[in-house]
Amino acid sequence: MIHLDRSRIKHLWNRLRGIPIEWDLGEYRALLERINTFELRELTEQELKDISRRLRDEVGQGMSLDELLPEAYALVRETAERTIGLRPYDVQVLAGMAMHRGRLVEMSTGEGKTLAAVFPAYLNALTGKGVHIHTFNDYLARRDAAWMGPIYTFLGLSVDCIQQGLPAEERKKAYAADVTYATAKEAGFDFLRDKLCFDTADLVHRDFHFAIVDEADSLLIDEARVPLVIAGTSGKPKVDASQMAELVKGLREGADFETDDGKHNLYLTDWGLEQVEAILGLGSLHDPENLEALTKLNQALHAEFLIHRDIDYIVRSGKVEIVDEFTGRVVEDRHWPDGLQTAVEAKEKLALGSGGSVLGSITLQHFLKLYPRLCGMTATARPSAEEFKEFYSLTVAVIPPNRPCIRRDEPDVVLTHKEAKTEALIAEIERVHAAGRPILVGTASVEESEELAAALKKAGVSCQVLNAKNDELEAWIVARAGELGAVTISTNMAGRGTDIKLGGEDEQDRDKVVELGGLYVIGTNRHESLRIDRQLRGRAGRQGDPGTSRFFVSLEDYLIERYGIMNLLPKQYRGLKQEVPIIDAFVNREIERGQRIIEGQNFEIRKTLWKYSSLMEKQRDLIQRRRREILSDGASLELLSQNASERHAEIKSKLGKTRLHEVERRVTLFHIDNCWAEHLARVSDIRESIHLVSVGGNAPINEFHKLVSAAFLELDHKIEEAILNTFEGLKISGNDLDLDDSGIRGPSSTWTYLISDNTFGSWVGLLQGSNIGFTAVAAGYLGPLYVLLGLLRRRRWRKDNPLEQAPSQDRSETR
Ligand code: ADP
Ligand code: MG
Repeated sequence: MIHLDRSRIKHLWNRLRGIPIEWDLGEYRALLERINTFELRELTEQELKDISRRLRDEVGQGMSLDELLPEAYALVRETAERTIGLRPYDVQVLAGMAMHRGRLVEMSTGEGKTLAAVFPAYLNALTGKGVHIHTFNDYLARRDAAWMGPIYTFLGLSVDCIQQGLPAEERKKAYAADVTYATAKEAGFDFLRDKLCFDTADLVHRDFHFAIVDEADSLLIDEARVPLVIAGTSGKPKVDASQMAELVKGLREGADFETDDGKHNLYLTDWGLEQVEAILGLGSLHDPENLEALTKLNQALHAEFLIHRDIDYIVRSGKVEIVDEFTGRVVEDRHWPDGLQTAVEAKEKLALGSGGSVLGSITLQHFLKLYPRLCGMTATARPSAEEFKEFYSLTVAVIPPNRPCIRRDEPDVVLTHKEAKTEALIAEIERVHAAGRPILVGTASVEESEELAAALKKAGVSCQVLNAKNDELEAWIVARAGELGAVTISTNMAGRGTDIKLGGEDEQDRDKVVELGGLYVIGTNRHESLRIDRQLRGRAGRQGDPGTSRFFVSLEDYLIERYGIMNLLPKQYRGLKQEVPIIDAFVNREIERGQRIIEGQNFEIRKTLWKYSSLMEKQRDLIQRRRREILSDGASLELLSQNASERHAEIKSKLGKTRLHEVERRVTLFHIDNCWAEHLARVSDIRESIHLVSVGGNAPINEFHKLVSAAFLELDHKIEEAILNTFEGLKISGNDLDLDDSGIRGPSSTWTYLISDNTFGSWVGLLQGSNIGFTAVAAGYLGPLYVLLGLLRRRRWRKDNPLEQAPSQDRSETR
């Protein structure tokens, strides 16, 4: 008889629906039994170390990691207990196996993912090729490397971490370690810097091998589209952004321009375009020579109408500082793309920042895909399982908690207007706080946090507000959020990765807090993504603790207004103002449905953006391959000997073959970089102006493809021409030639930043013609259609994704 337990049924149901979630851990459990057959308890330290050495040798001799997994995992388990005093639970070992399999592991907050990651990290580091563990922030990289470090070092492996501002030599050393903890951002910046090196000795990275991404949903989805940028000094002229900013201030919505429902996009009307053209006096803005003006106009429109002061950014000490949508905090090191930053500065009449040129860029998504093997862990993977599959070919594996979760997730309290919500919040906090039960409040922005804190203070409740810019300090505060009587207010993701113990860090009042019901988590808003809401709820109920979570929503909330969720609700609620909550389960359901629709739309948007960035990524890859061959001396440089033969011979006879070769390489690398930077600038102009150019009905993505591909075709030719020109013009003085003198030098300074696209506005028009709306329907409750679509999709994945066909990657699914 076939045995069907609950997880098996869930697994089958999801397979039918095509949702890539692995529930059935039977195979891992079988492996766990093998792990348990190793008797290591009685062994001496030295004997354990000897096993590690032998395992390493065996990997060196070609034994497969899969074969060695049981013994290696048994060894890590024993070592963890002896070195850091934690004996990994079975579920942690299971998670470790799933990650080695390349799964994205879902494991609740507080279940010990940090330790679970050590299993696959150790096993894969035995190859000597380096394992990267990407953490949520620098503080966690430091913490985790120090916390888990003793396990690795005991077993003879080296471990290190990367921090912002670390000098190049130390980075190189850290990446040379067997296991390196770092944020993906830092590793990505290093990757970009490496791409500008003139000498292999200056490279800090080794070849990528295996990466484990912590808080994977944040990085792989929320942050994935964020381009990392390296920019350098250059003498590029600036176009007058201030004039444009002035001009657009006079335009009126409805007459001169229109926006779409979500206020993501903005379009000039014919009338508006005429007005603008008349003022600028440049003739038709659609003429190719006006591309730059069109771009600037577009950016100015954006800055003026789609990006809002004190929501999307704040102005502080004369600078525009971007507010992160997810953490609600000002993010350092972050710019809007290209000219948009300048346009916002112009809108605010600030000094325009230095406009260096972009020398290289890569999105976090593409960066992470550079790892031949990728896996991850997070507390909330399921809601985005499809997306992980689509973008990263990652299957989600759901690991059950060590002890069942008994947290109560209460239905939302829905109020008609904002003031009523604030009052209800305060009343609830006062009520719960009176007994001493700890409360963690998650807000949507720093501003909201501060307002709430002020209101609470008035009501006589003192609280901690997380507005520190410092991750370590935040972690310190969040770690105390479970103390008796604590009220902690934080934006929705601040302090992620920090453990909240009941009764304080040393759990002295644990029993009292347990009796009061554990941590009470309050969300003051529904977020665009259900996943983020779940992340907040997960702060309570850690490791089988009691806990409660509840959201407060008002019909005036940003989310409800911006996406027109009101339209889903019965008419009687429009414009209604009452002090007491709306008790209507239909309303709660519709709000959640609205949220799901938004999630679906955002997924569609990400898919479209992915298409744009993928084209650029292919081009980057082609260029980089060439550059790399030249850098590592693997490429023949026939261009110069063939097309500038006299010059070639002259330099050879005067300076010798070695110097000639050196000069050839430097000149070639220089121009590849230079032309690539110019290409990037051109592409961003194309991207910014595309929707205006393509009003003719062509889908913007096609237009973009056409223009960017054409530009890339010219690039080759441009590079060759530039190399030849420089080569012919080199001045030989005495018995050498000065490359710097001939302008062949890298940028005198470079800096790195992230581009913030937290408003999709920066992609105005790019999304035209993409099939947004379809998933919105599918995201509803169309069960049978879901199943059918899922089956079709599954076939497609199978076909497209070679990994999925590899038996070792997919055994549990094909069973
Ligand atoms: P997560 O990243 O899953 O939220 P952490 O790795 O931060 O969780 O660990 C949460 C807490 O669980 C930490 O206080 C850690 O010491 C504890 N912990 C982890 N693994 C074990 C274990 N095997 N036994 C006891 N405590 C553990
Ligand atoms: Mg963690």
